Amino acid sequence: MRRWNGWGDTGVEYPLPAGALAFLTKTLGEGKAPVDATMDSVVGQLPPPRLKAINGVSTDPVERLLHAHGQSLPDWIALRSGQIGPAPDGVAYPTSTEQVHQLLVWAMHKGLQVIPYGGGTSVVGHINPIAGDAPVLTLDLTRMSRLLDLDQTSRLARFEVGIAGPALELQLSHHGYTLGHFPQSWEYSTLGGWIATRSSGQQSYRYGRIEDLFAGGSLETPTGTLMLPNFPASAAGPDLRQLVLGSEGRLGVLTEATVRVRPAPEREQFLGIFFRSWDDGLAAARTLIQEDLPLSMLRLSDERETETTLALTGHERLLGLGRKALKALGYGEQRTLMILGLSGKAAEIGQTRARAMEVVRSFGGLNTGIRIGEQWRRSRFKTPYLRNTLWELGYALDTLETALSWSAFDAARRQTLDSLQRAFAGLSRPALVFSHLSHVYQDGASFYITYLYPRGDSPEATLAAWRSAKGAASESIRASGGTISHQHGVGLDHRPYLQDEKGRLGLKMLRSLAASLDPAGMLNPGKLFEDQPSDSG
Ligand SMILES: Cc1cc2nc3c(=O)[nH]c(=O)nc-3n(C[C@H](O)[C@H](O)[C@H](O)COP(=O)(O)OP(=O)(O)OC[C@H]3O[C@@H](n4cnc5c(N)ncnc54)[C@H](O)[C@@H]3O)c2cc1C
Repeated sequence: MRRWNGWGDTGVEYPLPAGALAFLTKTLGEGKAPVDATMDSVVGQLPPPRLKAINGVSTDPVERLLHAHGQSLPDWIALRSGQIGPAPDGVAYPTSTEQVHQLLVWAMHKGLQVIPYGGGTSVVGHINPIAGDAPVLTLDLTRMSRLLDLDQTSRLARFEVGIAGPALELQLSHHGYTLGHFPQSWEYSTLGGWIATRSSGQQSYRYGRIEDLFAGGSLETPTGTLMLPNFPASAAGPDLRQLVLGSEGRLGVLTEATVRVRPAPEREQFLGIFFRSWDDGLAAARTLIQEDLPLSMLRLSDERETETTLALTGHERLLGLGRKALKALGYGEQRTLMILGLSGKAAEIGQTRARAMEVVRSFGGLNTGIRIGEQWRRSRFKTPYLRNTLWELGYALDTLETALSWSAFDAARRQTLDSLQRAFAGLSRPALVFSHLSHVYQDGASFYITYLYPRGDSPEATLAAWRSAKGAASESIRASGGTISHQHGVGLDHRPYLQDEKGRLGLKMLRSLAASLDPAGMLNPGKLFEDQPSDSG
């Protein structure tokens, strides 16, 4: 069963190793165990639904609660404190495109707002209802999860979009294929959600982001069905698929999508490589990518994240020995850890690895083999469970990310880390802030920051600290020329920064596009962009 107020399956725990807990307590001080609201008490507070349950639409309070929030830190604070704010008035679980169509027609007739909902793993407020007069219907698409067609000649698979990562890969694996899209939320996030948020998987360097994998599909809108044929390429004017990618439920409800699949790799390897400093690791990362080596992923943790990652392995004795040995070889406290992924045919992997190691060595890197990389691979979808553990120990955690060209990358990363430290210092709160370079491109990369702080004495205090930190970091990203999101999308939390990125005219285009497909503005209103231009817009 899925946790209603945290991450993941209730049967899965990720306890913190003793060494990691000691490290955390030393850095952040002792956390206070929370007194969380119970599900019954929260359900009991929900106002009566403003719509009548009809066939296929549930107004059950538990269903409404389960669809009220995503996975951002404000979502967690709301659910754990019981101050949940608006919830949908009803939830429908369509099982076909025809049913989605009928529900949209019904919603239009009744003056409802409609929120398309995939796995509910949004971390920026995509699926939260906004307080208003119109009743809200959430369309949970997870019962649309079939593989409809696999064209092995063209390597194209057509799915219903409510399918989540594990089921999608399982169905493809029966035929020897993979999509290769592995966001950290893979356990629950869905194909439709990935497309609607322009998601990026951990091995995007080999397989591409979702926009590279999305070949076509079908979108139900209040004004009709928009078909997006799957041409391999087209010069027939602007590509409408690009408009649907990242549309965050504002333009319509995706019901089917065709994706580009590949034969599952013969072999995969993830190597753990240490560098003496961040600068050495960063220079090596850029060189590896610009040499066009067929890697599948590259992640470089900064000094703090390296230490935290090592502490999390939990092997205290081995770790102590490892640290000593590394230090003796000149990889002291400034060391940084790179995980380098190789996927493909066994012979290709051997060649790529040999060339990659020449580059790594030229920057003083030390390849420790597959042990650390294997640990990363095994725990990559389990790490989000740590948020539950940390919360229960009294700590709040959030992450943020951006992408920039190589020349602007590191100054922006440092400024954003500083802005977070300053924000917490201004609040006289300790914080643990660290970063890694994750998705890599020929012209730049994304950085991903994790920050933890002790929860406040009240939900309001925890939320105020988040607002201050998130605001400072978002301003820093904006000022340094980064995109407000490389992979999490816009939702509500990044909306104030979109105009700077798209420009006034760009936002006007987006608004008129939404108005042409959804003239009544019933689809996920308020997300991605404000419904009315602000004064400055
Ligand atoms: C622990 C954790 C780790 C994460 N790691 C990553 C990561 O590595 N990479 C990454 O890209 N993201 C990551 N995310 C963010 C999140 O998982 C992605 O944004 C994901 O794409 C959302 O998919 P979903 O199915 O859960 O969509 P939801 O959260 O349900 O919805 C997100 C948005 O998509 C719209 N939408 C969903 N389905 C449809 C549809 N069928 N038609 C139209 N609109 C639709 C919704 O209206 C909403 O606006 C992470 C989140 C968490 C909690």
